[in-house]
Amino acid sequence: MGHTELTPSAPTSSAKYELDAPHLPPPHLRIFVNRNLRMDTVAAIGFDMDYTLARYKREQLERLAHRLTVEKLVKRGYPEEILKLGYDPSFVIRGLMVDKQLGNILKIDRHSHVGRVFHGRRPLNKDERRQVYRRERIAFVPPRFALVDTLFSLPEMCLYADLVDFFATRGDAGQVDTWKIFDDVRESIDEAHRDDTLKSVVKQDLAKYVERDPLMARTLHKLRSSGKKLFLLTNSAFDYTDHLMRYLLDGELPEYAHWSSYFEWVVVTAKKPAFFKDQEPFALLDPKGVPTGKAVTALERGKVYEGGNLKDFERMTGMIGEQVLYVGDHIFGDILRSKKASLWRTALVVEELEDEIRYSIEHAEDLQRLADLEVERRNLDELTSLQRQHLATIEKRLGAEEARGSAEFEALRLRRDQAKRQLKSVIAAIEALETKVDASFNSTWGFVFKESGENSRFAEQVKDHACIYTSRVSNFLGYSTHQYFRAPRDLLPHERDIMSTEDL
Ligand code: IMP
Ligand code: MG
Repeated sequence: MGHTELTPSAPTSSAKYELDAPHLPPPHLRIFVNRNLRMDTVAAIGFDMDYTLARYKREQLERLAHRLTVEKLVKRGYPEEILKLGYDPSFVIRGLMVDKQLGNILKIDRHSHVGRVFHGRRPLNKDERRQVYRRERIAFVPPRFALVDTLFSLPEMCLYADLVDFFATRGDAGQVDTWKIFDDVRESIDEAHRDDTLKSVVKQDLAKYVERDPLMARTLHKLRSSGKKLFLLTNSAFDYTDHLMRYLLDGELPEYAHWSSYFEWVVVTAKKPAFFKDQEPFALLDPKGVPTGKAVTALERGKVYEGGNLKDFERMTGMIGEQVLYVGDHIFGDILRSKKASLWRTALVVEELEDEIRYSIEHAEDLQRLADLEVERRNLDELTSLQRQHLATIEKRLGAEEARGSAEFEALRLRRDQAKRQLKSVIAAIEALETKVDASFNSTWGFVFKESGENSRFAEQVKDHACIYTSRVSNFLGYSTHQYFRAPRDLLPHERDIMSTEDL
């Protein structure tokens, strides 16, 4: 992984700059900042478990969730032929949206512009997209629209698209209740998570489904050693949490006899986002994970609690508001809700970032060319509008007929036609390059963080709600525990223009 301990070089005069410069980890392992965060002010760091401390071997887990969901649908009365439906991990990314009413899957940008649409596995063309989503203002909100914002939900997308096609090709088109199909898929996958069908398989073969980050234990140790209190706050139940955490942390460092020794407080079955707004009391569990029934008046180290709520947590731990940094992977349940209900600072783990950054670096030339072409398009847009205006002025001055015979008018018209042709070819080049760049990342949906030239809606949510974001928890190892995570200066388009204009 190429992580190195950050030891500053010796303070010789020639090494002065080197000493002053931040020793940044490689880009795909960096922590990115939306809102300034001074680690010195953070007294407690909370961690979500699934997809935060525990990274899954995604394809394996998604295939399993897909299969179990199909089996559950058959039990609900769906035809047995659907057991043949396979899972295609390349068809799904995080941040997509389902239009249950029309049976479509969409990717939208930060302005709610629908960039791509699939009906089943068929992409809708520009005209079809316009017809459906550009004729009136649409609020992309439940119940008609469902957002796919957790990695756990990805298999649903592929299955949903295949079921929409399945029923359409069976001749049920027109009568297919796409809304019901989605709800059935959702309920079945929900059941697979709740009734242990999924987790019992994962627990039996953790090595197959769970990735072990060799730097995780050291990262937690480093944070603890700097005086921060760590805690675990997960929606998973005790038994599953215990299995996973043992697999991830036990035996990693001699100072820690048991995974729970890394943490000051351990809370399972937390029911986030309800944890942040409701008042459910904490329940103390016995070592087997059974509720003891004792009233909880303090949260003690070495004990495991279930349920609970934000207010009691802050009161009993003394860790309040901005003293707490919570690290999670779910933009809604972990980040947005905690932000709304408290002053906790937030770190979002987006594992896709690692590949997106690596890919962007590998294809930097294409991306630079795309940016250059976009500048060219903007310049040509401006030029052709000016030319149009100029031609209209001459026409007004001389009258339409006389203008057409004038050399000035004709020369300008030729130049305008040439600029228009140029503009057309630049637009075609942009589209071709965009398709190439996107397709080599994910042939169906492109980047998680981008849609055409814009930020995707998902990217915008990350920007708006996470104080910092990174691809994995162990990236904290690459930074000082006194780090001042500083956000880059916010730049509005006019400021960006001024800064990039050399000849002002
Ligand atoms: P956390 O990320 O550690 O808070 O835990 C997430 C928990 O939610 C895991 O135990 C998942 O199995 C569970 N989970 C994920 N998706 C669903 C769902 O759709 N229904 C019910 N539980 C879910
Ligand atoms: Mg999680």
